[in-house]
Amino acid sequence: MPISDNYKARLYPRLETIAEHFGTPFHIYDERGIRETVLNLQSKFDYATFQEYYAVKALPNPQILKILYGEGLGFDCSSIPELILARQTGASGERIFFTSNNTTPEEFEVALADGGCILNLDDISLIDKMPKMPELICFRYNPGEKRKGNSIIGNPVESKFGLAHDQLEEAYRLAKEKGANRFGIHAMIVSNERDYQAFVQTCFMLLELVEKLNKSLNIQIEFINLGGGLGIPYHPEDKPLDLSTLAAAIQRSLIYFERLNKYMPRIYMESARYITGSHGVLVTRAINHKDTYRRYIGVDANMSSLMRPGLYGAYHHIDVFGKDSSERDVIVDVVGALCENNDKFAVQRALPPIDDGDLLIIHDTGAHGHAMGFNYNGRLRPQELLLRNNGTVERIRRAETIEDYFATLNFEPKMLNISTTHTT
Ligand SMILES: *Cc1c(COP(=O)(O)O)cnc(C)c1O
Repeated sequence: MPISDNYKARLYPRLETIAEHFGTPFHIYDERGIRETVLNLQSKFDYATFQEYYAVKALPNPQILKILYGEGLGFDCSSIPELILARQTGASGERIFFTSNNTTPEEFEVALADGGCILNLDDISLIDKMPKMPELICFRYNPGEKRKGNSIIGNPVESKFGLAHDQLEEAYRLAKEKGANRFGIHAMIVSNERDYQAFVQTCFMLLELVEKLNKSLNIQIEFINLGGGLGIPYHPEDKPLDLSTLAAAIQRSLIYFERLNKYMPRIYMESARYITGSHGVLVTRAINHKDTYRRYIGVDANMSSLMRPGLYGAYHHIDVFGKDSSERDVIVDVVGALCENNDKFAVQRALPPIDDGDLLIIHDTGAHGHAMGFNYNGRLRPQELLLRNNGTVERIRRAETIEDYFATLNFEPKMLNISTTHTT
């Protein structure tokens, strides 16, 4: 179940017109699908205690962020440009979560300015590197060998993120000493995970820590942030995540916690893929084909539009516009133009016969798609479009130009003359 039949029904009849009007390639996102997914997620939890912080890195487009902010989401940021993007929507204070790692002093300055944010510290050593301790502070916990992670994010012991188990209590104690009086805790253990139990386990794990830390430090941790990582079905055979069961199990554990501890922590998440991933497609035109040892379909997009297949061997479903998708009987590699052999959107994929000029629809590019693109080989990132609720299609980012590519070569000359004497 890659993109929804509903999105297909609204997009496909107008796709050729859109492609002619805007030119290819482009990502096109679905406002309606995004809004529905947000509402569905929020409806599973208790409005009073749940907050989703969309991870800006997945789709850092102001028009998309504006939609999400309007639906009540906050933003998870981890760089200065992401903080700026989040604030441009109107978000500030506790609608922004700052989960950087390997953080610089400049990042702390910007994070704490302009109404601030919830600072999520990635290490105990950063306590002394912040310009000041805010009232509200959060720490990112890495359970190490206590948890297994999953195949995508890897083993927590090998992960650069978060504080080790034995550092946690000391970190909250130091923060309290330095003036913090409100606290949260964060962990992100899995990525693109469709087994709901992984998130329930993270919830149990964090609630247990909250109880322990509350008692030993005489504090009351206000929220647990379960991170992102909710998976989507990229492959037609993938089973979707059971969000209802996930949410019900979490709500039950919160009620149990409340019975014992006389208060209920708020529950935060920072999903991105789950919110927008399946509400975007990359549309690209077949421009060449070649038959050598394999049949290759050359398209007018390349890795600069979508890195996931080349980078992780990720599967992205592909439809050929106007061709019967039940007749997938030609085995092809779908390739871009980079001088890199991993510049392929599909490897040995059964697709309907493709002619030069056909449009290919590459599914599920609404998260970690355009944003991950790069300029290697002088390849430029494509435009982004948005299919609005009212049926209009709006360009929400232009394609990069050759001038953009050369922009960083336009600079003030700077020189340092060092005379060196070589002795041998
Ligand atoms: C990337 C990231 C996310 C979002 O991940 P998804 O898999 O898209 O849900 C959330 N939180 C942090 C800290 C991240 O680095």
